[in-house]
Amino acid sequence: MSRKLTGRIVIATHNPGKLKEMQELLAPYGIEAVSAGELNLPEPDETGTTFRANARIKAEAAAKAAGLPAFADDSGIAVDALDGAPGIYSARWGGPQKDFRMAMGKVHEEMLARGAAEPAQRTARFVSALCIAWPDGHLEEFEGIVEGEVVWPPRGNSGFGYDPFFLPEGHTRTFGEMTSEEKHSMPPLGLGLSHRARAFRQLALACLEG
Ligand code: IMP
Repeated sequence: MSRKLTGRIVIATHNPGKLKEMQELLAPYGIEAVSAGELNLPEPDETGTTFRANARIKAEAAAKAAGLPAFADDSGIAVDALDGAPGIYSARWGGPQKDFRMAMGKVHEEMLARGAAEPAQRTARFVSALCIAWPDGHLEEFEGIVEGEVVWPPRGNSGFGYDPFFLPEGHTRTFGEMTSEEKHSMPPLGLGLSHRARAFRQLALACLEG
């Protein structure tokens, strides 16, 4: 039986793009969410080797520091032609300046260097691991994936990170060309489109509804 989330929670992220999306996803549930940034919580080192492990590190650190349930996402883009890179290192590929135009260029160059120029060689996926940690150590964990391909040049200015670089399967517009409502596609609009929205739907069913 999953534990229900009530009252006040911490959103364990210092990434403004993610924070906005998590707040949007949580808004319909009447959960009062404060960010790790607002509480001046330190950013733990992401020393895990999987999305799931890193989400847990962030959620547990925030729950412990704030004494409140904490909600964390660890996510990234995995490109098949690069054997899954940048993957859990997606944020690091943006460098200290968090320059994702540069990171997209780097991914594209690496793909060309490996001879991956054809559309069929551009397959990629976004992955989101969500973790809620309670101060007593209880955890709830969820994962969402959206398959697609990378496009060059990047298209659109919406969203954050690698959004303009990613075309979800079955769609004609990149995440960077979608509104955040379209990128989430939560009910009644759809059944969840982005990796984060898909993971969040499972979380909502388990921990927020009923
Ligand atoms: P982390 O989970 O904080 O380690 O960072 C994940 C990184 O992956 C972000 O900084 C983004 O660059 C990228 N990323 C994760 N989710 C998305 C998304 O929904 N759109 C675009 N980029 C994303």
